[in-house]
Amino acid sequence: MSCIFCKIIDHEIPSSVIYEDESVIAFLDLSQVTKGHTLVVPKKHFANILECDPDTLAHLIQVTQMLAKRIMERTHANGVNILNNTHEAAGQTVMHLHFHIIPRYDEKDAIQIEFHESEKQNLEELCALLK
Ligand code: AMP
Ligand code: ZN
Repeated sequence: MSCIFCKIIDHEIPSSVIYEDESVIAFLDLSQVTKGHTLVVPKKHFANILECDPDTLAHLIQVTQMLAKRIMERTHANGVNILNNTHEAAGQTVMHLHFHIIPRYDEKDAIQIEFHESEKQNLEELCALLK
C-alpha cells in the first residue's frame, strides 16, 4: 500500500498543488499552521532526507527556495521557517520526505520554535566525536 503523499502524487487523493515538475510536487499543508504553509515533496518515495539521493535532494531544496520566495512575496509574510522532520523522535508523522515552508508573520504565529539549553555538554569531546 502506498503512503499518503504517494497517493497525492498519483492524484488518487486530492490536494491543492501550487507547483509540479517531473520530480517534485508542492501542495498546501492541510493544517495551515500559518497562511500559505506548504509541503515540498519528491515524487519518488524516500522515507526521509537521510535516504534521498543527492541529485533529487539538490533539486528539492532549490524548488523549496524558489517557492519560499514566491510564498513570502504573495502572502506578504515577514519571515519563513523551512523545516524537515526526520524520524518519529523529531516529529515526523508522514514517512515520505518533505520540507515544510511555513511563512511567518509575527511571533504570535501558531508555531513557536524556541531553543533551550539542556544539560551542559563537553564541547571538546563532542567535537572529537563529530569531526
Ligand atoms: P510531518 O509531521 O513533518 O511528518 O508533517 C506531515 C504534514 O503533512 C502535517 O503538517 C500534516 O498536516 C500534513 N498532511 C497530512 N496529510 C495531508 C494531506 N492529505 N494533504 C496535505 N497535507 C497533509
Ligand atoms: Zn510515499
